[in-house]
Amino acid sequence: MSFKSLGLIPELLKAVKQQGYETPSPIQEKTIPTILEKRDVLASAQTGTGKTAGFTLPLLQTLDATRKKRHRPIRALILTPTRELAAQVHDNVRSYSKFLDIRSTVIFGGVNAKPQIRTIRGGIDVLVATPGRLLDLENQKALSLGRIEILVLDEADRMLDMGFLRDIKKIISLMPKHRQNLMFSATYSKDIKKLAEGILNKPVLIEA
Ligand code: AMP
Repeated sequence: MSFKSLGLIPELLKAVKQQGYETPSPIQEKTIPTILEKRDVLASAQTGTGKTAGFTLPLLQTLDATRKKRHRPIRALILTPTRELAAQVHDNVRSYSKFLDIRSTVIFGGVNAKPQIRTIRGGIDVLVATPGRLLDLENQKALSLGRIEILVLDEADRMLDMGFLRDIKKIISLMPKHRQNLMFSATYSKDIKKLAEGILNKPVLIEA
């Protein structure tokens, strides 16, 4: 199996090659074509399986295919439980979007919000965020979730463990109903299943 045979565009193939990846990981073989088909996904995947590229590559391809030339509302939101993970996911987004005209940034708490707000005001296609800071900036009207087309919940089980369920529900209430939803979780608890049922639309189930 090659990245090319999964349907990725040349700009992404080039970025993947620069990362030194030769073949897709098992989870990438399943998530990339499924996400390109615009299906919702519920994937069980541990860290280290390549899950980040598994959702980021097709997400970037979809955004690139329908990019509006003039304004840049936030079109994809990647929610993560911790600032460390947010920073790490954003590093991935930057590396893979290197040859595309797609802008991204990352926001999390514990640091000054002003530079984050300035960057967002400049126009951002992909936002990586932790739930608290995201709601904070939304409350301040520093950003809008009204144009989100793709939502990723990364490490959803950890987000629930950390007590983010209410925040997640609030965030979802601020987004358009019609969107693609991708949920990644290392474990499947009753709570995860319930959250998935509330968010996902006929999801494809993927196991790494
Ligand atoms: P993740 O599970 O997303 O945290 O990724 C774990 C590590 O695997 C990261 O350092 C990635 O850069 C790397 N990685 C992701 N996909 C591949 C691949 N297809 N081949 C080799 N390394 C990869």
